[in-house]
Amino acid sequence: MPPKPTAENPPEPEQDLPQQMSFFWLVVPLLVALFYAWYLQQNDAMPAVLSKLFRSGEESDLYDLRILTDRTIFDVVDLKGKGKGLIAIRDIKQGELVIQEKPILTAPDGDIAEVLLNPILQNLTSAQTKALLSLSYTHLKTEKDETVNVNAKNLTPRARYLLAEGIITNNAVGINLNGQHSLGVFPRMARLNHACASGYNLAYAWRDDEGELRIYALKDIKEGEELLISYIDSRRPRKERIEKLEKTYGFTCTCPICSLPPEESEKSDELLPQFTLFYTDFAQWYKGSITGKEAIQHIRKIWQLTVDTGYVRERGRWAQEAAYVATVHGDETSARQWLRLAIEWMGIETGIDSVKTTNLQFTLDNLQEHPELASREVMDVGGPIL
Ligand SMILES: [Zn+2]
Repeated sequence: MPPKPTAENPPEPEQDLPQQMSFFWLVVPLLVALFYAWYLQQNDAMPAVLSKLFRSGEESDLYDLRILTDRTIFDVVDLKGKGKGLIAIRDIKQGELVIQEKPILTAPDGDIAEVLLNPILQNLTSAQTKALLSLSYTHLKTEKDETVNVNAKNLTPRARYLLAEGIITNNAVGINLNGQHSLGVFPRMARLNHACASGYNLAYAWRDDEGELRIYALKDIKEGEELLISYIDSRRPRKERIEKLEKTYGFTCTCPICSLPPEESEKSDELLPQFTLFYTDFAQWYKGSITGKEAIQHIRKIWQLTVDTGYVRERGRWAQEAAYVATVHGDETSARQWLRLAIEWMGIETGIDSVKTTNLQFTLDNLQEHPELASREVMDVGGPIL
Protein backbone atom coordinates (compact mmCIF):
# COMPACT_ATOMS: atom_id res chain seq x y z
CA MET A 1 0.00 0.00 0.00
CA PRO A 2 1.41 3.43 -0.88
CA PRO A 3 2.16 5.63 2.13
CA LYS A 4 -0.51 8.19 2.88
CA PRO A 5 0.53 11.62 1.68
CA THR A 6 1.57 13.88 4.55
CA ALA A 7 3.56 17.10 4.82
CA GLU A 8 6.78 15.01 5.22
CA ASN A 9 5.74 12.66 2.56
CA PRO A 10 4.25 14.80 -0.22
CA PRO A 11 2.32 13.16 -3.01
CA GLU A 12 4.19 12.41 -6.21
CA PRO A 13 3.92 15.42 -8.48
CA GLU A 14 1.00 14.58 -10.68
CA GLN A 15 1.79 16.77 -13.65
CA ASP A 16 4.42 14.30 -14.96
CA LEU A 17 1.90 11.57 -15.35
CA PRO A 18 -0.19 12.95 -18.23
CA GLN A 19 3.01 13.73 -20.12
CA GLN A 20 4.24 10.19 -19.77
CA MET A 21 0.84 8.90 -20.73
CA SER A 22 0.60 11.07 -23.85
CA PHE A 23 4.09 9.99 -24.91
CA PHE A 24 3.08 6.37 -24.45
CA TRP A 25 -0.16 6.81 -26.41
CA LEU A 26 1.68 8.57 -29.17
CA VAL A 27 4.49 6.10 -29.64
CA VAL A 28 2.63 2.83 -29.31
CA PRO A 29 -0.03 3.48 -31.99
CA LEU A 30 2.69 4.88 -34.22
CA LEU A 31 4.73 1.70 -33.84
CA VAL A 32 1.64 -0.42 -34.42
CA ALA A 33 0.75 1.61 -37.53
CA LEU A 34 4.28 1.36 -38.88
CA PHE A 35 4.39 -2.37 -38.26
CA TYR A 36 1.01 -2.79 -39.95
CA ALA A 37 2.13 -0.74 -42.94
CA TRP A 38 5.29 -2.83 -43.15
CA TYR A 39 3.21 -6.01 -42.90
CA LEU A 40 0.83 -4.87 -45.68
CA GLN A 41 3.75 -3.97 -47.84
CA GLN A 42 5.45 -7.33 -47.30
CA ASN A 43 2.23 -9.08 -48.22
CA ASP A 44 1.47 -6.89 -51.23
CA ALA A 45 -1.75 -5.91 -49.57
CA MET A 46 -1.33 -2.20 -49.16
CA PRO A 47 -4.10 -0.17 -50.78
CA ALA A 48 -2.83 1.90 -53.70
CA VAL A 49 -3.77 5.13 -51.95
CA LEU A 50 -1.52 4.27 -49.00
CA SER A 51 1.27 3.04 -51.18
CA LYS A 52 1.60 6.54 -52.56
CA LEU A 53 2.52 7.73 -49.09
CA PHE A 54 5.27 5.17 -48.87
CA ARG A 55 6.62 5.34 -52.37
CA SER A 56 6.88 8.55 -54.22
CA GLY A 57 7.35 9.26 -57.88
CA GLU A 58 5.25 8.99 -60.97
CA GLU A 59 5.37 5.23 -61.10
CA SER A 60 2.58 5.10 -58.55
CA ASP A 61 0.35 6.55 -61.27
CA LEU A 62 1.34 3.75 -63.63
CA TYR A 63 1.22 0.69 -61.46
CA ASP A 64 -0.46 -0.76 -58.46
CA LEU A 65 1.57 -1.62 -55.40
CA ARG A 66 2.05 -5.29 -56.20
CA ILE A 67 4.03 -4.25 -59.20
CA LEU A 68 6.05 -1.74 -57.26
CA THR A 69 7.27 -4.28 -54.75
CA ASP A 70 10.13 -5.28 -57.05
CA ARG A 71 11.92 -2.19 -55.73
CA THR A 72 13.26 -4.53 -53.08
CA ILE A 73 14.93 -6.64 -55.77
CA PHE A 74 16.57 -4.23 -58.19
CA ASP A 75 17.35 -0.64 -58.91
CA VAL A 76 17.29 1.26 -62.19
CA VAL A 77 20.70 2.80 -62.68
CA ASP A 78 22.72 4.58 -65.36
CA LEU A 79 25.28 2.24 -66.86
CA LYS A 80 28.35 3.42 -68.67
CA GLY A 81 27.77 3.38 -72.43
CA LYS A 82 24.48 1.45 -72.12
CA GLY A 83 21.98 4.00 -70.91
CA LYS A 84 19.81 2.75 -68.08
CA GLY A 85 19.83 -0.78 -66.75
CA LEU A 86 18.56 -2.86 -63.87
CA ILE A 87 20.94 -4.03 -61.17
CA ALA A 88 20.12 -6.64 -58.53
CA ILE A 89 20.27 -5.05 -55.08
CA ARG A 90 20.27 -8.42 -53.37
CA ASP A 91 20.96 -12.04 -54.31
CA ILE A 92 18.11 -13.46 -56.38
CA LYS A 93 17.34 -17.16 -56.43
CA GLN A 94 16.72 -19.12 -59.61
CA GLY A 95 12.97 -19.22 -60.28
CA GLU A 96 12.26 -16.11 -58.21
CA LEU A 97 9.70 -13.62 -59.54
CA VAL A 98 11.60 -10.46 -60.42
CA ILE A 99 9.10 -8.33 -62.33
CA GLN A 100 5.33 -8.42 -62.46
CA GLU A 101 3.97 -5.78 -64.76
CA LYS A 102 0.78 -4.83 -66.53
CA PRO A 103 1.08 -3.16 -69.94
CA ILE A 104 0.66 0.61 -70.02
CA LEU A 105 -0.38 0.26 -73.64
CA THR A 106 -1.63 -2.54 -75.85
CA ALA A 107 -2.09 -2.52 -79.61
CA PRO A 108 -2.94 -5.08 -82.27
CA ASP A 109 0.08 -6.97 -83.57
CA GLY A 110 1.46 -5.90 -86.95
CA ASP A 111 1.78 -2.57 -88.68
CA ILE A 112 0.33 0.08 -86.37
CA ALA A 113 -1.49 2.70 -88.41
CA GLU A 114 -1.83 6.27 -87.23
CA VAL A 115 -5.66 6.12 -87.11
CA LEU A 116 -5.38 3.09 -84.85
CA LEU A 117 -2.69 4.31 -82.52
CA ASN A 118 -3.86 7.89 -81.97
CA PRO A 119 -6.99 6.97 -79.98
CA ILE A 120 -4.90 4.58 -77.87
CA LEU A 121 -2.39 7.36 -77.15
CA GLN A 122 -5.17 9.77 -76.28
CA ASN A 123 -6.43 7.39 -73.62
CA LEU A 124 -3.13 7.35 -71.74
CA THR A 125 -2.71 9.40 -68.59
CA SER A 126 0.00 12.04 -68.70
CA ALA A 127 2.24 9.84 -66.53
CA GLN A 128 1.74 6.91 -68.90
CA THR A 129 2.47 9.07 -71.93
CA LYS A 130 5.63 10.32 -70.26
CA ALA A 131 6.70 6.78 -69.39
CA LEU A 132 6.03 5.60 -72.94
CA LEU A 133 7.83 8.46 -74.64
CA SER A 134 10.87 8.05 -72.38
CA LEU A 135 11.61 4.63 -73.91
CA SER A 136 14.11 4.05 -76.69
CA TYR A 137 13.50 3.75 -80.42
CA THR A 138 15.72 2.98 -83.37
CA HIS A 139 13.81 4.08 -86.46
CA LEU A 140 10.92 6.43 -87.14
CA LYS A 141 8.39 5.51 -89.79
CA THR A 142 8.62 8.87 -91.58
CA GLU A 143 7.35 9.50 -95.08
CA LYS A 144 9.77 10.54 -97.79
CA ASP A 145 10.96 14.14 -97.26
CA GLU A 146 9.16 14.29 -93.91
CA THR A 147 11.00 15.96 -91.08
CA VAL A 148 9.81 15.43 -87.56
CA ASN A 149 10.96 17.17 -84.43
CA VAL A 150 10.56 14.55 -81.74
CA ASN A 151 12.43 16.72 -79.24
CA ALA A 152 9.91 19.56 -79.35
CA LYS A 153 8.41 20.49 -76.01
CA ASN A 154 4.89 20.18 -77.37
CA LEU A 155 4.78 17.32 -79.84
CA THR A 156 2.47 17.56 -82.82
CA PRO A 157 0.02 14.62 -83.07
CA ARG A 158 2.02 13.37 -86.06
CA ALA A 159 5.34 13.51 -84.19
CA ARG A 160 3.79 11.84 -81.16
CA TYR A 161 2.43 9.04 -83.33
CA LEU A 162 5.75 8.47 -85.11
CA LEU A 163 7.66 8.50 -81.86
CA ALA A 164 5.21 6.12 -80.15
CA GLU A 165 5.23 3.82 -83.18
CA GLY A 166 9.03 3.66 -83.14
CA ILE A 167 9.02 3.00 -79.40
CA ILE A 168 6.41 0.25 -79.66
CA THR A 169 8.37 -1.42 -82.46
CA ASN A 170 11.47 -1.45 -80.28
CA ASN A 171 9.96 -2.31 -76.94
CA ALA A 172 6.68 -4.16 -77.32
CA VAL A 173 6.26 -7.77 -76.29
CA GLY A 174 3.96 -10.19 -78.08
CA ILE A 175 1.02 -10.97 -75.79
CA ASN A 176 -2.27 -12.76 -76.05
CA LEU A 177 -5.18 -10.42 -75.41
CA ASN A 178 -8.69 -11.92 -75.50
CA GLY A 179 -7.41 -14.59 -77.86
CA GLN A 180 -5.81 -12.03 -80.19
CA HIS A 181 -2.10 -11.71 -80.90
CA SER A 182 -1.32 -8.25 -79.57
CA LEU A 183 1.55 -6.07 -78.48
CA GLY A 184 2.09 -4.78 -74.99
CA VAL A 185 4.49 -2.11 -73.74
CA PHE A 186 5.96 -2.61 -70.28
CA PRO A 187 8.12 0.34 -69.20
CA ARG A 188 9.80 -1.56 -66.39
CA MET A 189 10.68 -4.50 -68.58
CA ALA A 190 11.77 -2.14 -71.35
CA ARG A 191 14.61 -0.98 -69.11
CA LEU A 192 16.16 -4.44 -69.19
CA ASN A 193 19.20 -4.66 -71.39
CA HIS A 194 20.01 -7.51 -73.72
CA ALA A 195 22.50 -10.36 -73.63
CA CYS A 196 22.81 -13.35 -75.95
CA ALA A 197 22.52 -17.10 -75.34
CA SER A 198 23.78 -18.01 -71.88
CA GLY A 199 24.54 -14.36 -71.11
CA TYR A 200 21.07 -13.43 -69.92
CA ASN A 201 19.57 -14.34 -66.59
CA LEU A 202 15.83 -13.62 -66.84
CA ALA A 203 12.96 -15.26 -68.70
CA TYR A 204 9.63 -13.57 -69.32
CA ALA A 205 6.19 -15.02 -69.81
CA TRP A 206 2.81 -13.41 -70.44
CA ARG A 207 -0.01 -14.51 -68.15
CA ASP A 208 -3.38 -14.58 -69.92
CA ASP A 209 -5.45 -14.91 -66.78
CA GLU A 210 -3.74 -12.18 -64.80
CA GLY A 211 -3.23 -9.98 -67.87
CA GLU A 212 0.34 -9.26 -66.89
CA LEU A 213 3.91 -10.05 -67.74
CA ARG A 214 5.96 -12.11 -65.31
CA ILE A 215 9.73 -12.17 -65.37
CA TYR A 216 11.58 -14.89 -63.50
CA ALA A 217 15.23 -15.47 -62.64
CA LEU A 218 16.53 -18.17 -64.96
CA LYS A 219 19.65 -18.54 -62.85
CA ASP A 220 20.89 -17.54 -59.42
CA ILE A 221 21.81 -13.86 -59.63
CA LYS A 222 24.27 -12.18 -57.29
CA GLU A 223 23.77 -8.75 -55.76
CA GLY A 224 25.27 -6.14 -58.10
CA GLU A 225 24.81 -8.18 -61.28
CA GLU A 226 22.86 -6.65 -64.13
CA LEU A 227 19.47 -8.19 -64.93
CA LEU A 228 19.33 -9.16 -68.58
CA ILE A 229 16.91 -10.64 -71.09
CA SER A 230 17.31 -11.64 -74.72
CA TYR A 231 15.65 -9.43 -77.34
CA ILE A 232 16.09 -12.01 -80.09
CA ASP A 233 16.43 -15.75 -80.57
CA SER A 234 20.14 -15.77 -79.83
CA ARG A 235 20.81 -19.42 -80.62
CA ARG A 236 22.79 -18.42 -83.69
CA PRO A 237 26.36 -17.42 -84.55
CA ARG A 238 27.78 -14.16 -83.24
CA LYS A 239 27.86 -12.43 -86.63
CA GLU A 240 24.17 -13.12 -87.25
CA ARG A 241 23.21 -12.01 -83.75
CA ILE A 242 25.13 -8.77 -84.01
CA GLU A 243 23.66 -7.96 -87.42
CA LYS A 244 20.13 -8.66 -86.24
CA LEU A 245 20.53 -6.51 -83.12
CA GLU A 246 22.13 -3.65 -85.04
CA LYS A 247 19.39 -3.67 -87.64
CA THR A 248 16.46 -3.99 -85.26
CA TYR A 249 17.64 -2.24 -82.12
CA GLY A 250 20.47 -0.07 -83.35
CA PHE A 251 23.21 -1.23 -80.99
CA THR A 252 26.28 -3.41 -81.30
CA CYS A 253 26.09 -6.20 -78.78
CA THR A 254 28.99 -6.41 -76.36
CA CYS A 255 27.41 -8.99 -74.07
CA PRO A 256 29.65 -11.62 -72.43
CA ILE A 257 28.92 -14.11 -75.23
CA CYS A 258 29.60 -11.63 -78.04
CA SER A 259 32.80 -10.60 -76.22
CA LEU A 260 34.25 -14.09 -75.90
CA PRO A 261 37.88 -14.50 -76.99
CA PRO A 262 38.11 -15.65 -80.67
CA GLU A 263 38.67 -19.33 -79.94
CA GLU A 264 35.79 -19.61 -77.47
CA SER A 265 33.60 -17.51 -79.73
CA GLU A 266 34.24 -19.94 -82.59
CA LYS A 267 33.31 -22.85 -80.37
CA SER A 268 30.12 -21.07 -79.27
CA ASP A 269 29.26 -20.30 -82.93
CA GLU A 270 29.60 -23.98 -83.70
CA LEU A 271 27.39 -25.11 -80.81
CA LEU A 272 24.51 -22.61 -80.73
CA PRO A 273 23.01 -23.43 -84.18
CA GLN A 274 22.94 -27.12 -83.19
CA PHE A 275 19.84 -26.48 -81.09
CA THR A 276 17.82 -25.91 -84.25
CA LEU A 277 19.43 -28.86 -86.06
CA PHE A 278 18.81 -31.31 -83.23
CA TYR A 279 15.28 -30.04 -82.77
CA THR A 280 14.55 -30.47 -86.49
CA ASP A 281 15.80 -34.07 -86.17
CA PHE A 282 13.59 -34.60 -83.13
CA ALA A 283 10.51 -33.14 -84.83
CA GLN A 284 10.65 -36.01 -87.36
CA TRP A 285 9.02 -38.08 -84.65
CA TYR A 286 5.75 -36.15 -85.01
CA LYS A 287 5.62 -37.31 -88.64
CA GLY A 288 6.36 -40.88 -87.61
CA SER A 289 9.70 -40.85 -89.47
CA ILE A 290 11.77 -41.84 -86.42
CA THR A 291 11.11 -44.06 -83.41
CA GLY A 292 10.36 -42.81 -79.92
CA LYS A 293 13.76 -44.01 -78.75
CA GLU A 294 15.49 -42.01 -81.50
CA ALA A 295 13.39 -38.96 -80.66
CA ILE A 296 14.50 -39.12 -77.03
CA GLN A 297 18.12 -39.40 -78.11
CA HIS A 298 17.74 -36.09 -79.96
CA ILE A 299 16.27 -34.48 -76.84
CA ARG A 300 19.17 -35.84 -74.81
CA LYS A 301 21.55 -34.24 -77.31
CA ILE A 302 19.70 -30.94 -76.91
CA TRP A 303 19.93 -31.30 -73.13
CA GLN A 304 23.66 -31.89 -73.35
CA LEU A 305 23.89 -28.79 -75.51
CA THR A 306 22.17 -26.77 -72.77
CA VAL A 307 24.92 -27.99 -70.44
CA ASP A 308 27.74 -27.26 -72.91
CA THR A 309 26.49 -23.79 -73.86
CA GLY A 310 24.90 -22.74 -70.57
CA TYR A 311 21.75 -21.87 -72.52
CA VAL A 312 19.03 -23.17 -70.21
CA ARG A 313 15.98 -21.33 -71.53
CA GLU A 314 13.39 -23.72 -73.00
CA ARG A 315 14.51 -26.69 -70.95
CA GLY A 316 10.93 -26.88 -69.68
CA ARG A 317 9.51 -27.18 -73.18
CA TRP A 318 12.06 -29.76 -74.31
CA ALA A 319 11.47 -31.93 -71.26
CA GLN A 320 7.73 -31.58 -71.87
CA GLU A 321 8.07 -32.82 -75.45
CA ALA A 322 10.20 -35.75 -74.29
CA ALA A 323 7.54 -36.59 -71.69
CA TYR A 324 4.92 -36.59 -74.42
CA VAL A 325 6.96 -39.00 -76.56
CA ALA A 326 7.42 -41.33 -73.58
CA THR A 327 3.69 -41.15 -72.78
CA VAL A 328 2.57 -41.91 -76.31
CA HIS A 329 4.92 -44.94 -76.36
CA GLY A 330 3.59 -46.14 -73.00
CA ASP A 331 6.93 -45.70 -71.19
CA GLU A 332 5.42 -44.43 -67.97
CA THR A 333 8.64 -44.49 -65.95
CA SER A 334 10.45 -42.27 -68.44
CA ALA A 335 7.36 -40.10 -68.90
CA ARG A 336 7.30 -39.41 -65.17
CA GLN A 337 11.01 -38.58 -65.07
CA TRP A 338 10.68 -36.17 -68.00
CA LEU A 339 7.53 -34.65 -66.50
CA ARG A 340 9.28 -33.96 -63.20
CA LEU A 341 12.08 -32.27 -65.10
CA ALA A 342 9.58 -30.30 -67.20
CA ILE A 343 7.75 -29.14 -64.06
CA GLU A 344 11.02 -28.05 -62.46
CA TRP A 345 12.12 -25.99 -65.46
CA MET A 346 8.71 -24.68 -66.48
CA GLY A 347 8.37 -23.56 -62.87
CA ILE A 348 11.65 -21.65 -63.11
CA GLU A 349 10.82 -20.09 -66.49
CA THR A 350 7.14 -19.27 -66.04
CA GLY A 351 6.46 -19.63 -62.30
CA ILE A 352 5.30 -22.66 -60.33
CA ASP A 353 1.72 -21.39 -60.48
CA SER A 354 1.62 -20.78 -64.24
CA VAL A 355 -0.91 -22.59 -66.41
CA LYS A 356 1.95 -24.38 -68.17
CA THR A 357 3.47 -25.68 -64.94
CA THR A 358 0.18 -26.66 -63.33
CA ASN A 359 -0.91 -28.47 -66.51
CA LEU A 360 2.31 -30.50 -66.40
CA GLN A 361 1.67 -31.33 -62.76
CA PHE A 362 -1.86 -32.42 -63.68
CA THR A 363 -0.46 -34.67 -66.43
CA LEU A 364 1.97 -36.23 -63.97
CA ASP A 365 -0.76 -36.79 -61.37
CA ASN A 366 -3.12 -38.31 -63.93
CA LEU A 367 -0.72 -40.04 -66.30
CA GLN A 368 -2.70 -43.26 -66.32
CA GLU A 369 -5.73 -41.41 -67.66
CA HIS A 370 -3.76 -39.63 -70.42
CA PRO A 371 -5.85 -40.03 -73.58
CA GLU A 372 -2.78 -40.83 -75.70
CA LEU A 373 -1.02 -43.16 -73.26
CA ALA A 374 0.52 -46.05 -75.24
CA SER A 375 -1.30 -44.94 -78.39
CA ARG A 376 1.78 -45.65 -80.52
CA GLU A 377 4.06 -48.71 -80.48
CA VAL A 378 4.86 -49.48 -76.84
CA MET A 379 8.59 -49.22 -76.12
CA ASP A 380 11.12 -48.04 -73.57
CA VAL A 381 12.17 -44.68 -74.99
CA GLY A 382 14.50 -43.68 -72.15
CA GLY A 383 14.45 -40.99 -69.52
CA PRO A 384 16.70 -38.01 -69.02
CA ILE A 385 20.43 -38.49 -68.42
CA LEU A 386 21.46 -35.74 -66.03
ZN1 LIG B 1 25.52 -10.56 -77.52
